[in-house]
Parts: sequence; C-alpha cells; structure tokens
Amino acid sequence: MAIRRQPTAVCDVDGIHIGGSNPIAVQSMTNTDTADTAATVNQTLALAQAGSELVRVTVNHDKAAAAVPRIVKTLRDFGCSVPVIGDFHYNGHLLLRKYPECARALAKYRINPGNVNIGKKHDDNFRTMIEAAIEHGKPVRIGVNWGSLDQQLLTSQMDLNAQRAQPWTAAEVMYETIVLSAVRSAEAAETYGLGHDRIVLSAKVSNVQDLIAVYRALAKRCDYPLHLGLTEAGMGNKGVIASTAAMAVLMQEGIGDTIRVSLTPQPDGDRCEEVEVAKQMLQSLEIRHFTPQVTACPGCGRTTSTFFQEMAEEIQAYLRAQMPSWKGHYEGVETMSVAVMGCVVNGPGESKHADIGISLPGNFEEPVAPVYMDGQLLKTLRGDRIVAEFIDILNGYVANRYEPKQDPATVQ
Ligand code: SF4
Repeated sequence: MAIRRQPTAVCDVDGIHIGGSNPIAVQSMTNTDTADTAATVNQTLALAQAGSELVRVTVNHDKAAAAVPRIVKTLRDFGCSVPVIGDFHYNGHLLLRKYPECARALAKYRINPGNVNIGKKHDDNFRTMIEAAIEHGKPVRIGVNWGSLDQQLLTSQMDLNAQRAQPWTAAEVMYETIVLSAVRSAEAAETYGLGHDRIVLSAKVSNVQDLIAVYRALAKRCDYPLHLGLTEAGMGNKGVIASTAAMAVLMQEGIGDTIRVSLTPQPDGDRCEEVEVAKQMLQSLEIRHFTPQVTACPGCGRTTSTFFQEMAEEIQAYLRAQMPSWKGHYEGVETMSVAVMGCVVNGPGESKHADIGISLPGNFEEPVAPVYMDGQLLKTLRGDRIVAEFIDILNGYVANRYEPKQDPATVQ
C-alpha cells in the first residue's frame, strides 16, 4: 500500500531536497569533537558511506567553528559531497558572525529556539542567525526540543490554560507549547526575510506517545518539511524499538520528510548503527529500498543444528558485500526480495513469494534445498555446495533481471 505523504514545501539542502514527494532523507550526527578535524572527517565519511544523506556536526565553540571549513574541504577532497549541517545552541549568533567561512561552508544551520532568545524582548540572537542564513543563502532547521523548551512560552501557555473553562492536561499544554515554539519561530524567521522554502521544522521529545501527538499537531499547523526523531532514544534494543515505534506510526500517516535515529552507541560501538536502523526502518515500511530484503525464518526445533543459521548468515553476508557494486550496475536491484528459509513448513511458501528463495532442509528432512525464482520452482540443490550453488543462481538472477545502469553511480 502506497503511503500518501502530507503535502509540504520543499527545502533544498545542497542538492538534497527535503519535503514534497522527495524521498524521506536519512540523517545522522557525529559525536566527535568538531575541533578535531581528522576524527570528524573520518566519522562523517563513515556515516555518509553507511548511507547518511546529511550529517550534522556540533558547532559549540570557537575551535569547532574554525574547523568546519577544513572539515568540509577535506570531505570534498575525498570525493564526499554529503551536506554538513551545523548544530548551534546558545552562541550560534556569535559564531556565525565571527566565523563567516564556517557560515559559508555549512549546508544548513540547526537553531534551537529554546536557547536563543526568540520571543523575548530582545530577540536579536535568533534574528542574527536567520540573517546569517539569508546572507549566505542557507536553509535552517528550527529544532525544538522539549528538554530545552522556551520556558517563558511554556509559562504563558500554562497561564492561558488556567483561564480555560475546561483546562487541558499538562501534556496537552506541553504539546501546544512545543508546536507554538516551532511555528512561531518559523514565522518570525520569515518576517526577517528567510524564504518559506528555506525552513525545516522539528519538535523532538523522548517519549513515543508524546512524539506522535506533537508531530500530528505540527503537521496540521504548517506545511514546512518535518525532520523526525525521538530524542534521547537510548541504547541498544530500547533505542531502536522506541524510535521505530514512534516514527513508523508517523511515517505511515505521511508525516516526516527526513529522519534521524538518536541511538546512544556502546562505548566501543559504531556510530553508523543509527544510519543502518534508519534505512531499515524506511525499507521495512517499504518507503525506500536500500538493499535486497532478506526474509529469513527464525529457525526452531526443526533447525536445531547451526547448519541453517550459518547458511542464512552466509547468504546475507554475500548480499551485503555485493550491494555496493550491484547498486552501481543494476537498476532497481535494491528492491529484490530474497527468502532464506529453514524447513519445508513455510520454506516453499515464503520462497515463492520472494523474487528468489531457497528452502533449506530441516532436521529429519531429505537433505535437499528447492530454489524458487519468480514464484516457480527452478531446481533442487543437494550435497555440500548448496550455498555456493545458490549464490551462483543469485548472481545469474541479478544479471538477467535488472537492467544495466547507463551511467554507473559512484558509490559515496
Ligand atoms: S520455516 Fe520451518 S524452520 Fe523456519 S521457523 Fe518455520 S517451522 Fe521452523
């Protein structure tokens, strides 16, 4: 079932178009000290190679701002064109003025209206950042975060609520304040001269139900493209599951134009994991395709030996290894579905539904593995070369089924 996206304006971030009918873009953020040019370049390269289409770096002090032009130049020297976004809090107005080369090198500025002085008597800091964006031709993301919500606005909304005949709940007041903070800041930016199509909004909270409620309200109130993310999602399974639970509901409703999964990596963990999760989320919802989808059964008492797990892993690893090359040579290969099943119970059925599938022999079954292609039984493999023969068949299928690309894409 195709998902109908909520109509929005389109914001061009250095050639990545966010909003409208453009693909939902995958974002990530470095966790290096931005002043450490080498570390930040290396991590940005890794994130971009993993599939992050925009990468945000924190710009929190003089040395970080001074390093940004070197970082962007080095990335370009390495052939990496990923837009680099500057994440500003508190002192962005100072840094953008003091370091014009940084302001020029960045593709977009993230402004947190909760820690600039928007709405206060002198809102010069917010205005200064918007004027820098106008001067350098950059878009901005106005990113509200409930952990740094504009307290003055929250207080005024609570006062207003106290006067209602039927007061809203505290949660409803909080949602309204978050939405108002985002929308009013965007409207103020436009009054300062920033184009409507130069603004992306986000309104991040750390609870799944809150995030869904806030974004539903935000999507009704404006047509700016929306960046989705569950802030402080956490570590491991909890972070992955909470992010997916929240963002999947919203994307299914057509809300969201760019996403980030804010996972806390393990101390020796890989920052690129958040990119993989974001891509898998989009792929599972069939919103975008990045790599062939492998349907593998979980195994059960019918596959008690490691035989099945090893075969499934070997085939998945082969697909992962081939994709960078296949993607450059075969049109649409990323939409291919492959089934790797453990026994006769569901194996033939799932394999017939996939583009290509293999039903491995379970315990006490005859050691044969039927292979299905486009819903038809192709042949039955047997012996100890089942995986190697299946991979040969897979290679032939890709070469025959997918048109060669006229102009092979360079893999970023
Ligand atoms: S397909 Fe067979 S091996 Fe796999 S989970 Fe189902 S019954 Fe178990």
